[in-house]
Amino acid sequence: MAVLERIGLGYDLHRLEAGRRLVLAGVQIPYPLGLAGHSDADVVIHALIDAMFGAAGLDDIGQAFPDTDPAYKDIDSKVLLQHALEKIAARGFVVLQADVTIIVEKPRLSQYKQTMRQQLRDWLNTPEDAVTVKAKTNEGLGYLGAGQAIACLAVVGLGRT
Ligand code: MG
Repeated sequence: MAVLERIGLGYDLHRLEAGRRLVLAGVQIPYPLGLAGHSDADVVIHALIDAMFGAAGLDDIGQAFPDTDPAYKDIDSKVLLQHALEKIAARGFVVLQADVTIIVEKPRLSQYKQTMRQQLRDWLNTPEDAVTVKAKTNEGLGYLGAGQAIACLAVVGLGRT
């Protein structure tokens, strides 16, 4: 099995708006608001991709998938994650571990976290327990605490193929 060689940190934030779907780690969550963005605005996948790119020494997600490119309009972020996995694989890397923290006041994600974790583990093809998803509030403070946005932090560990 590959040993841990590189780590990367990713961060993303999207505003919550009416008339959008709320998709986090590929899981659609029933809620009156959704995340605004050029793609499906899945902050979890975006933070993960930036962490993967950072660990692999690649440019950031905005360089790889520009939001001015019509090809990425409303795209399912799973597809971006697949492209990102191919890009790091081309550099000889695989994902060994991913640790995710979602900062979200509402909705509560406790009932979705296991599904997110399972889904990410399948997509990243990581060993059991190597992907974790945590959710926390912003204690009611600022725009995150007011429920105007959702943010996500991700740390990814890579090994050599
Ligand atoms: Mg984003």
